Amino acid sequence: MTDFTGLELAQPLLRAIEGEGYTTPSPIQGKAIPPLMLGRDLLGVAQTGTGKTAAFSLPLLHRLCGGDEGDAGRPLSRQPRALILAPTRELAGQIVDSLKTYSRHMQIRTAVIFGGVSAKPQIKTMNSGVHILVATPGRLLDLMNQGFVQLDKVEYFILDEADRMLDMGFQHDVKKIAAKVPARRQTMLFSATMPKLVQGLANNLLDDPVRVEAAPAATTAEKVEQQVLFVASDNKRNLLSHLLKDQSVERVLVFTRTKHRANRVAKHLVDSGISADAIHGNKAQNARQRALDGFKKGSIRVLVATDIAARGIDVDGVTHVINFELPNEPESYVHRIGRTARAGADGIAISFCDHEERGYLRDIEKTIRQTVTLVEDHPWHAADVATSTAKPPAPGGRGGRGGRGGQPKRQGQPKKHTGQAQNNNSGQKPGNSPGNSQGQKPGQRRRRPQRGRRPTGMAA
Ligand code: AMP
Repeated sequence: MTDFTGLELAQPLLRAIEGEGYTTPSPIQGKAIPPLMLGRDLLGVAQTGTGKTAAFSLPLLHRLCGGDEGDAGRPLSRQPRALILAPTRELAGQIVDSLKTYSRHMQIRTAVIFGGVSAKPQIKTMNSGVHILVATPGRLLDLMNQGFVQLDKVEYFILDEADRMLDMGFQHDVKKIAAKVPARRQTMLFSATMPKLVQGLANNLLDDPVRVEAAPAATTAEKVEQQVLFVASDNKRNLLSHLLKDQSVERVLVFTRTKHRANRVAKHLVDSGISADAIHGNKAQNARQRALDGFKKGSIRVLVATDIAARGIDVDGVTHVINFELPNEPESYVHRIGRTARAGADGIAISFCDHEERGYLRDIEKTIRQTVTLVEDHPWHAADVATSTAKPPAPGGRGGRGGRGGQPKRQGQPKKHTGQAQNNNSGQKPGNSPGNSQGQKPGQRRRRPQRGRRPTGMAA
């Protein structure tokens, strides 16, 4: 028996949930499942890591299979009954994995289609018939245009990570696809953020939706032990190698802003004898999948990723997220650190901040309404980052996320960062920082994180 019992989900689903070891619905599941079971449309403001996939998958499977019957009938060739749109191949793949897990005691066929791989097997699967189709917009439109997918039997339409979908330029594709889905349907739209464009899309697609919100960004971020390390950009690679000497830094997701930098960091680690790989949009799909599988199995200790590639990466047990470069958008920071601390687990996020990124850190701290703990006890501490007024790097670079509103404004005198910078100079290899105000080693957990408070001296 689990707390899911009260949600009136079909028995085969409850068995699958129990098999997964879920005991309590996550907040978004508790809020979203009841109205979805009644057929309501839903607008979900939630990011990956909140349990949103199960929040929409469980009622979807329940309704498709006619409750306890657990049987969705014969799938129709080329005509799915449910369509789930996702921005990236990784997220699409993970949604299908989750659906297969939750429907393991049911008779239901699920398929995924995305670009970057041969369309032939996807066409074959569509021909043989599926109940649920998970797709990225580009390839779906291709196959629709060729007649291999028809949406006129879709009863359930789900858009996941709508903000990212629009950020990635899928706005028109999404509109074209939505226009082919019958008006009589149940629609769910999930988005981590709710900028105007997404709100507009939601207004167009949803009919009197229930709005549910998972923990707002600031709360989610609080679950993660966050640290910032001031370091000159030339010393970041050394600092990374230094941190990885600690074997408790076990399964690590490293973020860079650009694909190029992701490759270089991964190469540096491999050259230093650390098992690492990079994952980003320029890599062939099978190379990305290989890297992800290796990371999941534990044969790759460090996965270096760009923001887009990392969206929706669902790997349990990521012990550390390391921001090799700080993102120029605070929201990306929240997404990144959410990769550790999955579904209630705790995690550690370490951010490298160089002189040019000082302003990014300020923006991030404003957004998460927290001061990130400054840890000085590392050999590359660059104290003068604290007062740096260096211009921030151009957003994204060719491989990065671009940035919606250009560079953030940074004017006026920067406030001194909590943690009191010492007077080591950047760029030279200092010895151990003499006056570490935190007494904390990077990558190690404080005994009891104090939410929302300025960091104070802690036991080492
Ligand atoms: P999501 O936000 O959908 O990406 O889910 C994040 C992770 O939480 C996945 O690894 C799920 O398997 C896990 N998860 C989802 N719901 C629950 C739950 N109620 N209890 C424990 N883990 C869950």
